[in-house]
Amino acid sequence: ILKVTEFISANDLAALLDVSVNQIISTCMSLGMFVSINQRLDAEAITIIADEFGYDVEFTKSIEDEIAEVETDEAEDLVERAPIVTIMGHVDHGKTSLLDYIRMSKVTEDEAGGITQHIGAYDVMTKTGHKIAFLDTPGHEAFTAMRARGAKITDVAIIVIAADDNIMPQTKEAINHAQVAGVPMIFAINKVDKPNANPHKIKEELANMNLLVEEWGGKYQSQDISAKTGQGVEDLLEKVLLESEILELKANPDKNAVGTVIEASLDKGRGYVTTIMVQAGTLQIGDIILAGQHHGRVKAMFDHKGKKVKEAGPSTPVQVLGLSGAPQAGDTFKVYDSEREAREIANSREQIQREQSLRTKKHITLDEIGRRL
Ligand code: GDP
Ligand code: MG
Repeated sequence: ILKVTEFISANDLAALLDVSVNQIISTCMSLGMFVSINQRLDAEAITIIADEFGYDVEFTKSIEDEIAEVETDEAEDLVERAPIVTIMGHVDHGKTSLLDYIRMSKVTEDEAGGITQHIGAYDVMTKTGHKIAFLDTPGHEAFTAMRARGAKITDVAIIVIAADDNIMPQTKEAINHAQVAGVPMIFAINKVDKPNANPHKIKEELANMNLLVEEWGGKYQSQDISAKTGQGVEDLLEKVLLESEILELKANPDKNAVGTVIEASLDKGRGYVTTIMVQAGTLQIGDIILAGQHHGRVKAMFDHKGKKVKEAGPSTPVQVLGLSGAPQAGDTFKVYDSEREAREIANSREQIQREQSLRTKKHITLDEIGRRL
């Protein structure tokens, strides 16, 4: 059995198989595949080539696998985790207002001074003493960018619909995104404080789309709210908890942390600041972390109020200092025991990225030449 990571080069594979790279190339040729010495091979090609040399292949785990492994952890290692929630909806229907209301109303007086920065995620404690994590990224980005990279991060989607308006194109889009991603939805029918608000009409429109709300005998939870006065917001949070109870969200906190990058930037004083959501395991100061093409040792961690924390368990968003660069939103991250391993993977990812962009550039250039001719 040959243990190997995906996307190693033909040259590296030759070394692992203890054959010359020319043997690899000619074997590929006889199979109708044309590879060059430094070409990186996908899983299928590696499997076929190794088989030719009498090896079975075992691929070392990708980060996506690690996160998925949450489900394969031993049952006794799993503990309940907080739901991770994304708020989506049509522009001006009140997404930002709702997020702000939730965040502000959950911040006690003495902490209020501490909120100086916007971070892409935060967590709150409900009145009943349960934690909920919110992604404060535009909902569509949270879905498209993150899903494009294979990250599944949202457990529950709140679809905000203004009761003084209609189901709008972006409302439909949000509903569609959630359905495609298989993420349960809760409808927050907002602006009910307005005299012209008509939540009944919104529920009717939903029913016409085959989305029957619970109070009308359907399966979708909905809550009339006002993000302005706060009416119904606490009930909405309880409904989120109810939904997450059904989902039986669990994770193993006692392993190396894995999760997803929410956002990253370069701060003049602090270096690269990366907001991440821990999805399984527990992240600690000093951990060696690999996120996308960047790695580093966690120097410091902060919660969304800017308060220093020493560790972050499942469903906890934190800002991390210490990465070598800014990974992209939606990149997965993972803690490694060996700095060397993290660095090597970071380097090879960077190289793949470079090669790919080179190839795309070449492609465009040829295309352009074609057009000019
Ligand atoms: P977003 O585009 O979905 O983020 O919407 P915003 O949160 O920016 O809200 C758009 C406008 O609606 C702002 O002027 C808000 O003050 C207003 N608004 C949001 N929620 C409510 C509400 O519950 N009641 C009232 N009266 N106005 C609201
Ligand atoms: Mg907004």
